[in-house]
Amino acid sequence: ALARRAAALMPSGGAILTLDTTLLTRVIQIDKVSMTARIEAGIYGPQLEEQLQAHGVTLAHYPQSFLYSTLGGWIAARGAGQQSNRYGKAEKWLVSAKLATPKGFWTTEATPASAAGPNLNQLVAGSEGTLGVIVEATVKIHDLPERKDYRGYLFKTFAQGIEAARRINHAEIPVAMVRLSDSPETYFFQALSSSGSGGLKSKLQRTYLKMKGFTDAPCLMLIGHEGTKETVIWAQEQTEAICRRLGALALGTGPGKRWFHGRFNGPAVRDPMMDRGLGVETLETSTRWSNIANLHEKVVEAISNAIAANVPEQNARGIVMAHVSHSYPDGASLYFTFVFPRQLDREVEQWQAIKRAASDTIEMNGGTITHHHGVGVDHAPWLGEEKGEIGMSILRATKREMDSKGVMNPGKVLG
Ligand SMILES: Cc1cc2nc3c(=O)[nH]c(=O)nc-3n(C[C@H](O)[C@H](O)[C@H](O)COP(=O)(O)OP(=O)(O)OC[C@H]3O[C@@H](n4cnc5c(N)ncnc54)[C@H](O)[C@@H]3O)c2cc1C
Repeated sequence: ALARRAAALMPSGGAILTLDTTLLTRVIQIDKVSMTARIEAGIYGPQLEEQLQAHGVTLAHYPQSFLYSTLGGWIAARGAGQQSNRYGKAEKWLVSAKLATPKGFWTTEATPASAAGPNLNQLVAGSEGTLGVIVEATVKIHDLPERKDYRGYLFKTFAQGIEAARRINHAEIPVAMVRLSDSPETYFFQALSSSGSGGLKSKLQRTYLKMKGFTDAPCLMLIGHEGTKETVIWAQEQTEAICRRLGALALGTGPGKRWFHGRFNGPAVRDPMMDRGLGVETLETSTRWSNIANLHEKVVEAISNAIAANVPEQNARGIVMAHVSHSYPDGASLYFTFVFPRQLDREVEQWQAIKRAASDTIEMNGGTITHHHGVGVDHAPWLGEEKGEIGMSILRATKREMDSKGVMNPGKVLG
């Protein structure tokens, strides 16, 4: 009936249906022995955590979009919470999913490990609604952490910060978050948080940093620990020792507390900037440790050049900044933010030119087209190069088999 009604509304007779999943909000079952929970997939972040935490447990998936995104969306887009080092990306904490597909309901396998062929949960995570609607998921949960400790370290160079993040991962210290800003991002956020103050305090800070051998372009690293009191104390000592060995200045818990307090607020500064004629955009990738510095340099250069070639007036400039925010034994993600003066008479073309330059550079330099934002429409042209011809044919065949009429999110992921 819904399809007929929508079709009647479309002049061409075609129909676009938008499904609202946000009435699917129940935590159905919590298994404290296996530490898993079965949850309906339309639930928003805050509702989900409220229901789990009432039982002393947590999923702890906190993307920056936590307040306005759902469990189903996190799985569908292979999302990453800010504390993914400890709690894992969506594809790690997903145990099993139930989908409503054009072929009927489908529930994926739910055992902790299996050799019974490829694990089909990996096909669901990242499917972005193209194979079916995730209506329910079983996920891994954790006891609520007894203690949280977030603090800051200042590095003389981005390279030293990267080395610290790599050593922390390789030492297998149980960190919740390691987030390293490059020098433009460190400067930008320092300027934003201290706007209107400045004066004597910042002059004294600069003099102190100079005495300690810091240039004008230091890089801030935030490290978060969560868990039992003993684990957090031990892990914090280990990470601090690694940072100090690499010449970092320990800033204490102040910067960590400030970040934690405002951790979902970043997007709120976008609209006021747009009202003042600025464009603000972000994109992200990941690569191996041995390639992080190279990829960072190349993408910053590509975005900067594309901004310079597409400014509304001569000498107008943009800012390109980045951070490492999710790390693994073999590599880490890079997240770029860029602010640029908008060409109001051709702003879509301007955005496309910058996006294309960044995406081509990521592809040519060993990065993935997306670490956690997903493919959608914008990244689809770069998927083929990453998956290869055979990989793409497997994905297309799956789509054809699952959705022979091509009605599930047409045009997404596969283009
Ligand atoms: C300001 C901002 C900050 C962000 N920060 C992060 C971050 O820190 N980490 C991160 O990982 N992502 C982040 N994102 C991206 C986005 O919020 C996430 O990818 C999130 O997982 C999307 O969930 P959603 O419920 O909003 O899904 P939507 O955005 O509504 O949908 C995303 C895709 O998934 C599909 N989908 C949604 N629900 C289902 C379902 N139940 N079954 C099948 N398909 C479904 C949709 O069709 C669509 O293709 C951010 C986005 C914004 C705008």
